[in-house]
Amino acid sequence: MSSSARLSEVAERAYAYIQPDGSWFVNNAGILVGSRQGALVDSCSTVDRTRELLSTSRGVGLLPKPLVVATHHHADHTNGLSLVEPSEIIAHAEVPGEMAAAFSIPPPGLFEEVRWGEIEVRFPTITFTDRLSLDLGGLVAQVAYCGGNAHTRGDSYVYLPDSRVLFAGDLVFNGVTPFGAMGSISGWIEALSRLAELKFEVVIPGHGELCGVEAIWATQRYLRFILEIAKGAVEAGVSPLEAARSVQLGEFDDWLDQERIVGNLHAAMAELTGGAINLIEVFLDMKEYAGGGLLRCIA
Ligand SMILES: [Zn+2]
Repeated sequence: MSSSARLSEVAERAYAYIQPDGSWFVNNAGILVGSRQGALVDSCSTVDRTRELLSTSRGVGLLPKPLVVATHHHADHTNGLSLVEPSEIIAHAEVPGEMAAAFSIPPPGLFEEVRWGEIEVRFPTITFTDRLSLDLGGLVAQVAYCGGNAHTRGDSYVYLPDSRVLFAGDLVFNGVTPFGAMGSISGWIEALSRLAELKFEVVIPGHGELCGVEAIWATQRYLRFILEIAKGAVEAGVSPLEAARSVQLGEFDDWLDQERIVGNLHAAMAELTGGAINLIEVFLDMKEYAGGGLLRCIA
């Protein structure tokens, strides 16, 4: 596989599609090979990456016209939807509105150049507010809303109850800095406590390598760390960028995409003060934090 993506059989008929290194726009996906109906958990950010996901999926027996569960609206997970030719696209009810308001290709001047290909936005065809169960033939998958604003306003996860496999979407990052500028930092902390209550053997994070509950707790510890810094910054009257520059990352220092701390602080401080954030400002501040050049992107 040219993108160095790896397939991992996480259960009978279920595969994790892991794309290293998990940084900006390099996400993980899932392939569910039911005997009557196939399903994908998310697509990829570029045409090339999505084509590779589809070719790999066919290689393990995915039937044509699969269902696709979009775990949330972000472009890395949804840009490839039009290439899948899905039977239905399933997502939480917040996702269509979030997709309509978001960019599929980031504005120029923020990230290193990426060959995106012809991206055609595809919206969910089935939405839900709580959960639904998919009987794919020899494989049952439960799709569930995380219960509140978290990484975004419409995050879902896919859980395989028989094999105890959890496709966590971007609710969980592993070795990659979580990004919460479009959701709620405090809501995400709560969602992770609920997620950890599920019984699972393996977690497929939205970005990074396969993991277990430890990555849920690490993601949560990072978000608590953000919330603490945000409280101090609001009290001291300093900007998110100044606050980010004044702290040591400690145990999170070797995670990719560290500049996200600035976006996360924008979100957390807005939450604490009841303000709103400007996403362009967020990205420009992250660029500044990272040294001023284009943000690293290998998508
Ligand atoms: Zn995301």
